[in-house]
Amino acid sequence: MKILCDTHSHTVASTHAYSTVHDYITSAKINGLQLFSLTDHAPSMPDSPHMWHFGNMQVIPRIVDDIAILRGIEANIMNAPYEHATQRNVDLPDSLLPYLDFAIASFHEPVFPPAGIKENTKAAIQAIESGVIQIMGHLGNPNYPLYQEEIVRAAKDNNVLIEINNSSFNHSRNGSAPFCVSLIEFVDKHSWKVSVGSDAHISFQVGIFDQAIEALQRVNFNEKNIANRTPAAFIDFLSEHGKSVAEELQPWLKNLNK
Ligand SMILES: [Zn+2]
Ligand SMILES: [Zn+2]
Repeated sequence: MKILCDTHSHTVASTHAYSTVHDYITSAKINGLQLFSLTDHAPSMPDSPHMWHFGNMQVIPRIVDDIAILRGIEANIMNAPYEHATQRNVDLPDSLLPYLDFAIASFHEPVFPPAGIKENTKAAIQAIESGVIQIMGHLGNPNYPLYQEEIVRAAKDNNVLIEINNSSFNHSRNGSAPFCVSLIEFVDKHSWKVSVGSDAHISFQVGIFDQAIEALQRVNFNEKNIANRTPAAFIDFLSEHGKSVAEELQPWLKNLNK
């Protein structure tokens, strides 16, 4: 199984990550990717960049050295409505939405203190239903018990992907693996889709999905339901969310398929 896009990575803009955009381009090539995504932490997280970081991502070329670069964000699920948006529990202001190709929403301990299963599930479903999220990030974190099947149902109803995060199987969020596997089983049961992300905090990790792929293969997950297996598949998915990046990448995509 080869996955040609990475949907989750962090640059030096979040200072607990250690690589630049340039480093990522180099590593993406070496690691056999055709596309990667910048998804630095949204501002409610300590150590995240200023909101301007995201609005100005338009200066980043769409393609460098045949590698496509998507402009994303890893937003935070919040336990209260976000002050700069209407009726939303993720920290994405309305003004930023036109600049983003997609948004991940995740639970992070400094922003959303772990709560009970009902409260966590409710917050996750609110984020899914917010209409501004395309991917739910690293839901296997054992600090956030969830009614996983309810979340998968809501994700399918709202065309939101369930992320299978490779870092959850090794150095992040200890104890996630069994929860990630059961999540994959529910996604499979409901014939829904995943995205696979490295969650790289240094460029060498970009496009490294070994353990996520192993978990998907263990449950015989249908490859067609991996939304980021090819650039065309992922960009089509973003078009379903009304994102215009498809138009900008069309010439590159055509060349890629030759
Ligand atoms: Zn991080
Ligand atoms: Zn995260």
